[in-house]
Amino acid sequence: MHKVKEKGILSASNGINIYRGCLHGCIYCDSRSDCYQMKHKFEDIEVKENAPELLEKALSSKRKPCMIGTGAMSDPYIPLEKDLRIMRKCLEIIEKYSFGVTVHTKSS
Ligand code: SF4
Repeated sequence: MHKVKEKGILSASNGINIYRGCLHGCIYCDSRSDCYQMKHKFEDIEVKENAPELLEKALSSKRKPCMIGTGAMSDPYIPLEKDLRIMRKCLEIIEKYSFGVTVHTKSS
């Protein structure tokens, strides 16, 4: 795992990916594709440690409510989340600003 500070977290289609890479190991995973230009091993998870602050900033200035999507590129509930709890913080922010959310995960 390695941590980074990003400049933005919310995509143009209102998606967030807190982690880059995944540990669930699905053989059909599209996120491993070279077209996404990942500069680290897929299993060496990149953690966007400032995701909650970036999300709060983005949602506080949004005028229209919408659904926030998670898990499009990397599962938000990889084992690291149990200790880091970044997804949980993001969910609390989404609730605080009354946005909807979809959670795509392979985790139980
Ligand atoms: S859970 Fe999703 S991101 Fe993770 S390996 Fe499977 S398909 Fe890829």
